[in-house]
Amino acid sequence: MKLIPLITVILLIYTAALPEDVLAQQRFPAPEFESGYELPDVVTPEPRALANEYADVFLLASFLLFTSWLVIKKRSRKWILWLSVFALLYFGFIRNGCICSVGSLQNMTLSLSDPVYAVSYTVIAFFMLPLIFSLAYGRVFCASACPLGVIQDLVIIRPAKVPLWVQKSLGMFPFVYLALAILYAATGTDFIICRYDPFVGIFRMGAEFHLVILGISFLLIGMFVGRPYCRFVCPYGALLKVTSLFSKRHLSITPAQCIKCRLCEDSCPFGAIEKPTPDKLVSKIKQRSGRFMLYAAVIPLLMLAFGLAFSSSHIFLARAHPDVYLAHLLINEPEVMQDTENLDVQTFLGSDRTMEELVDSAASIQATFRTGTWLAGAFIGLVAGLFIISQYIVRRRTVFEPNRGDCYSCGRCMEYCPVEK
Ligand code: SF4
Ligand code: SF4
Repeated sequence: MKLIPLITVILLIYTAALPEDVLAQQRFPAPEFESGYELPDVVTPEPRALANEYADVFLLASFLLFTSWLVIKKRSRKWILWLSVFALLYFGFIRNGCICSVGSLQNMTLSLSDPVYAVSYTVIAFFMLPLIFSLAYGRVFCASACPLGVIQDLVIIRPAKVPLWVQKSLGMFPFVYLALAILYAATGTDFIICRYDPFVGIFRMGAEFHLVILGISFLLIGMFVGRPYCRFVCPYGALLKVTSLFSKRHLSITPAQCIKCRLCEDSCPFGAIEKPTPDKLVSKIKQRSGRFMLYAAVIPLLMLAFGLAFSSSHIFLARAHPDVYLAHLLINEPEVMQDTENLDVQTFLGSDRTMEELVDSAASIQATFRTGTWLAGAFIGLVAGLFIISQYIVRRRTVFEPNRGDCYSCGRCMEYCPVEK
C-alpha cells in the first residue's frame, strides 16, 4: 500500500503547481469599442474555482485509497456501500457527473492529437488515478468512486444470470466503443462518450428527452442485469479491465483457504466469479495449447481484415465532423444556402471562409479518418483475436476466485464466505 499514497501526494503537489495562466482570461480589461458597442452582461457561470478542482482530485484520491483499504484489509461490503452512496451524491448529483474519469479519456486523446488543445492537471489526475489504483488493487474506482457504476449498483434487485457466451460476446463492445471514442476525439469531431452518457441527464435533473429515456432504460434493465452500462458499454471500463488483470493485489473472496463450500458461487451479480477448473478440462490443457498457437498466428490477419473493413466506412464516419457535414450539405443541396433558419449554413456564409477552404478542410479530415479507421479496425481485430485465444486458455484453478478483469470489487461475495465469519 506504500506506492499509492506516494503517487497521490505527487499528483496533488503537481496539481497545486498549476500555472497562473489558467486564470489569465480574468486578468485583462474588456476592450473599448469605437462603434459604441457594449459587451453584454455575462450570464454564464464563472469558470469553476480552482479550489473546487483541487477538492475534486483530493476527494477522488481519498475515495480510491479508502476503498482499496476496505477491499484488501478491512473486507467490509457495508463500508464500501456507504462510501459509494457518498460518491454518487458528490460526483453525481452535486458535481453533476462532470468531471468524470470515463469522459476524461477523450480530453486526454484530443490533447495528444491537437497541440493547441490543453488539458488541466485535474483532467490528467481523473484519467490516471483510477488506472493506477486498478494496477495496484483492481477496479476499486468502479466499486465506489464512479457515479455511473454506483447508480447502477444501487438498483440491482434480482440479478439474472447472463449466459457466459452472451456476456463474453457483448463484453467486446466496450473496446469497439473505446476505438470509436478515441477516433472521434482525436479528429476533434465530437466527445461521443459525453454526448451519449445515459446518466448525466439524471445527475443534472434535466437533459434531452431521449437521453433521460436511455438513462431510465439502463436503470430498469439494471434491476435484473447487474451494471449493464459497465459490462457492455463503458469504454473506460475496458481500460480498467486490462489494467486490473495485472493488479498487484486484488480482492479475494475468502480471507484464508477456500474450503470449496460453493456458497459464494452465485453471489456475484456480474458473473465475475471463476470456478475451480473441472478435471476433464485440466486433462485437455495440452491439447488446447496447439490451437492457442494457431489462433495466435491468425491475429495479424484479423487485424488486417478488421482494419480494411472499418476503413471502408471512413467517409460515412467522417460525416459527423462539422466541416465534412457542411461541405457535403452545400455541395449536394446548394439550395440550403437560402435557408435563413439553418444556423450552421448561415454562420458559414457570414464567416470569411471560402467554399474552397471548407472543401479542403473536409478532404483533409476524411484523409485523417481513413488512417484513423484503419488503426481503430486493427485494434478491434487485435481485441477479437485475443478474445478468441482467451477461450482456449485453461488456467488450472483450484479455488473460487474473482475474475480480475470483470470484478468491480463490490465485496458482495465476501459476505457469503463462511470462512470470513
Ligand atoms: S465500468 Fe465504467 S461506468 Fe462502470 S464503474 Fe467502471 S468506470 Fe464507471
Ligand atoms: S467483489 Fe465478488 S461479487 Fe463483487 S464483482 Fe467481484 S467477484 Fe463479483
